[in-house]
Amino acid sequence: MELHIYTAQIGKYKGLDAYDVTVKTGDYTFAPTWDIVQAWKAGAIDWGTYKQKYRQLMLDSYKQNPTAWFEILHKGILTLLCYCRAGENCHRYLLAEILRKLGEKEGVCVIDEGERSLLEKNDESLKDKSEGKLLSAAQQQSLF
Ligand SMILES: [Zn+2]
Repeated sequence: MELHIYTAQIGKYKGLDAYDVTVKTGDYTFAPTWDIVQAWKAGAIDWGTYKQKYRQLMLDSYKQNPTAWFEILHKGILTLLCYCRAGENCHRYLLAEILRKLGEKEGVCVIDEGERSLLEKNDESLKDKSEGKLLSAAQQQSLF
């Protein structure tokens, strides 16, 4: 059994495996609370505290509703969605990590496939870099 986990910004990916985990529009089982979100946005707590609070919340969620966690772990392919931009501090990355650890315990091999839109960007930047590696006219001249 494998679970391929992707992450994406809401609106950037609309595949069938897209799964909204925001407190605003998503599945509360895996969302942070408004309290945590607002405290983080207001700068009242730092990212370390956010992580701590979110992990505690998810532990409680797991205890209350293990079936929901079991189901999400057995989806085969899953893209966790949130409003935050790619690469920003976001609970979708924390959730992916939690699911990876849970998978180890439940015998599900969880593969973190990374951010969907970020992946495309990375591919582009890789292409840019490889193009950049083609020697400039000056460099070519110095060779010959
Ligand atoms: Zn987020």
